[in-house]
Amino acid sequence: MEKDLKKRARQIIRILKKEYPGAKTALRFTNPIELLVATVLSAQCTDERVNRVTEELFKKYKTARDYAEVDLSELEEDIRPTGFYRNKARAIKEFCTELVKHYDGKVPASREELVKLPGIGRKTANLVLGEAFGIPGIVVDTHVLRLSHRIGLTRKKDPVKAEFELMDVVPKNQWTLFSNLLILHGRNICTAKKPNHKDCKILELCEEGSSWAKKAMGT
Ligand code: SF4
Repeated sequence: MEKDLKKRARQIIRILKKEYPGAKTALRFTNPIELLVATVLSAQCTDERVNRVTEELFKKYKTARDYAEVDLSELEEDIRPTGFYRNKARAIKEFCTELVKHYDGKVPASREELVKLPGIGRKTANLVLGEAFGIPGIVVDTHVLRLSHRIGLTRKKDPVKAEFELMDVVPKNQWTLFSNLLILHGRNICTAKKPNHKDCKILELCEEGSSWAKKAMGT
């Protein structure tokens, strides 16, 4: 069974790579601290809006120390359009304070260290590792979890448990790519509201899609 899953995962990656060439995060950043901040801001907010906010934000805040030392209320105003700005500002200030205290203001290139930072979970850690450091990680966001269930790559509902199962079926060097491909496919075709099975290039490799096709053909 697992062998079949591994094979399917590889085929899915091969097909989606052609659909979404150069798939990577839509968040704009030029260094790890910028990506860490942008990722926190992207919770419950579109990447487009985050990019609009960070365009100005990153001109004002260049280092972890800048975030650590600014007045909380000022940071709140600067990130307000991304929503949940009070919680986000507090989180950014807290983890930047930790970065200054323990890592000389640098973002550590290690999952174990990243998840020790306040407010940073495995999803954010894996995204930053994959995109900013080239260290593979599966980013189990809402799209990746939904598609993995529909396709049948995991049955786990808990994102961390799902991540560990996916780590077994997806080749390690493709963990980041796999996440980015599923995120794009989830936004474009396999949306939460209504999966567009008809136009899906991985229909034959997907459990939910195959059941739909059988019903549609009356078999
Ligand atoms: S076949 Fe349907 S459920 Fe499966 S990935 Fe495609 S759109 Fe989603």
